Amino acid sequence: MSVARFPSVYLSDEHATLRASVARFVDEEIRPNAEAWEAAGEFPRELYRKAGDMGLLGVRYPERFGGGGLDFLSTCVICEELVKGDSVGTAVGLLAQSEFALSALADEANDELIETWLAPAVRGEKIGAIGVSEPAAGSDVASIKTTARRDGDEYVISGSKTYITNGPRADFITLAVRTGEAGARGISLVVFPTDTPGFSVGKRLDKLGSRASDTGELYFDECRIPTSNLIGEEGKGMHYILSHFGGERLVIAAFAVGIMERLIEIGIEHATQREAFGSPLMGFQTWRHRFAEMATRCEATRALTYQAARLLSDGEPAGEMAVSMAKLHAAEAVQNVAAEVLQLHGGYGQIEESPVPRYYRDVAGFSIGAGTSEIMREIISRQLVRA
Ligand SMILES: Cc1cc2nc3c(=O)[nH]c(=O)nc-3n(C[C@H](O)[C@H](O)[C@H](O)COP(=O)(O)OP(=O)(O)OC[C@H]3O[C@@H](n4cnc5c(N)ncnc54)[C@H](O)[C@@H]3O)c2cc1C
Repeated sequence: MSVARFPSVYLSDEHATLRASVARFVDEEIRPNAEAWEAAGEFPRELYRKAGDMGLLGVRYPERFGGGGLDFLSTCVICEELVKGDSVGTAVGLLAQSEFALSALADEANDELIETWLAPAVRGEKIGAIGVSEPAAGSDVASIKTTARRDGDEYVISGSKTYITNGPRADFITLAVRTGEAGARGISLVVFPTDTPGFSVGKRLDKLGSRASDTGELYFDECRIPTSNLIGEEGKGMHYILSHFGGERLVIAAFAVGIMERLIEIGIEHATQREAFGSPLMGFQTWRHRFAEMATRCEATRALTYQAARLLSDGEPAGEMAVSMAKLHAAEAVQNVAAEVLQLHGGYGQIEESPVPRYYRDVAGFSIGAGTSEIMREIISRQLVRA
């Protein structure tokens, strides 16, 4: 069963073709394995290669890097379909690579870094992670403490990162380090190869949701990397991080749209089959109306998300506010829909046989990762006052 969806003024036939091929990939490669991967706490490394072969890991990067040369709306379409495989963790692991780890590299890195790290990651041969958060610095990125001290033509890196998605098995990390003064202007971004002596993976973190993505603590003890691994210019790391957060936030908003569609689909199927007091649940007005509200939340999120994607693709300054609104709204909408569909399933909603409780747990983190809802409100309110 598939749920009726408005035709979108934003999407082209090319997006529809992309959607159909991602949906096939999900049917064949992800959904049949979702339960096993969620239980195992990871998905096979080979999936990056398969996603790379399909062109899913670089869809919006230039063709000369091996990418698809498409737009942020294509990223949205990929995200919406990937999460319908009932393993949000798998989608998170793939997008942490293709969007979170690679976007600053694609825009700012030199040709050697592109060739050594970005191009193989787009093909799915290497795994990348983004390393910004630290034990004492999450929302407050400007207070990170991991240092990169210059020694000749090397940086010597010491410190730690936490909550890093793909971190435990990454080949490289797009790493935020302090190369200068305290505060935002002392931050730089480097490509950190994980086979560098002195690097170690700490605890793999046991998460509430997105369990098939591996997330961990990382330690750097006097790790030496060439200064040529610097992304863009020294001291501009914070600017690069902030300008690429837009893509990360869009990914979460688009994940939310896909999850709402999937949950509404699962919910309608259950509500038409399950009977109580001699009537299918769908026979009760309360449930029909709750589905109407869920569908409206989903379409409102989609509209905000596609609008933000268009503004980001066009490089419009309003993109930052639009994507913050999309993410803020998306997190609340999908948490509401997940709770409603869980309630609809009664006792069965509490049993791990169905993907419903898993989605309920997965979306709890949507108001945290890639910038919390409080930070989204802060960004939106600052722009309102400026406007
Ligand atoms: C599953 C998962 C995967 C992640 N993956 C990555 C990754 O790959 N790479 C990476 O670098 N990071 C990653 N993160 C980290 C994530 O970006 C941070 O958790 C997030 O930015 C919040 O930081 P924090 O956890 O330190 O919370 P804090 O910043 O300590 O915030 C705690 C609470 O205080 C609120 N708060 C903070 N500042 C303000 C303020 N100014 N006004 C009002 N309220 C405020 C927050 O909104 C939150 O509710 C991941 C996190 C999770 C949970």
